[in-house]
Amino acid sequence: MEPNQTAVVQVIEHRITRSPEVEPLSTFEMTPKSEKIMNKIFIAISHFVLLSAIAMQCGCSKPSSEPDKSADSKPATEKMEFSETTWYYPAWAADAKYNQPIDVLDTDSALGRYSLKTKQVGLKDLVKFHGHPCDGLVIVFIQVKAVLAKLFPDGVIDRTDLRVVSKNGPCWVDTVAMMTGARINFGTLSLDNSVGDGFIIQRISTGEAYSIHLKDGVFPKEQAEMESKIRRLHAEGKQVDGAMIDQVETMADKLSTLLLNTPPEELLDIKELPDYEYKQKFKAGSRGDIINKNVPR
Ligand SMILES: [Zn+2]
Repeated sequence: MEPNQTAVVQVIEHRITRSPEVEPLSTFEMTPKSEKIMNKIFIAISHFVLLSAIAMQCGCSKPSSEPDKSADSKPATEKMEFSETTWYYPAWAADAKYNQPIDVLDTDSALGRYSLKTKQVGLKDLVKFHGHPCDGLVIVFIQVKAVLAKLFPDGVIDRTDLRVVSKNGPCWVDTVAMMTGARINFGTLSLDNSVGDGFIIQRISTGEAYSIHLKDGVFPKEQAEMESKIRRLHAEGKQVDGAMIDQVETMADKLSTLLLNTPPEELLDIKELPDYEYKQKFKAGSRGDIINKNVPR
């Protein structure tokens, strides 16, 4: 119990022990029987006040089905965390119009129940986990956010209640796993390249499922060609020019800036999948985002 709770308890306990000394009201003549009743009423009220005070202090007045979202819409310091730029989280990401964190709900411990409070996961958290702020991560962020808004209209994303189909790309799998809690080892993340540059996301408890992709023409053709060229050179064992990497990174940042500042409905195709039957697939692949790590700058 916290010090202020202890103080509340002490004050109420003091009142309870003093109750027999309470002076009778002048307009009411106290008999031994009525004095007994008055004392009982006083003790009952005191207990009610005591329990309410403790419940308010520990936040346990909320039922577990309604997690306390306010808990993470707090401290300026935490909000700053999402907008503070660093070398790996540039201003184009931090200052973007549609870069808002999601509120997620998890369990309390290894054997725990639903938490009573939510936490926020933002683009910066995803970048730290994934390793870099690439356009793939941004595409996944806006796609998954849009589907989660449909699956959880109250805005609390239950990361224990989702399964996902994704292609086997590093930026895709990392980002969607962190945002949804879907994982290969629990059968809740299926790797199937036929899904393309998008996802199928299903809420397990309701069966509700959506597919999501970028609208045709959103991903720039020039960038797609440059990416293919670099991958082809690597596959053929030829030297990739550092200037080409710089060029494709500039294109990617430009695309990310556009994606994070455009209303999602202008970018995304979402389709509801009635009666969708999830089936997990898995095939290991090679990690594409490290193939050029030793190319000279
Ligand atoms: Zn990436």
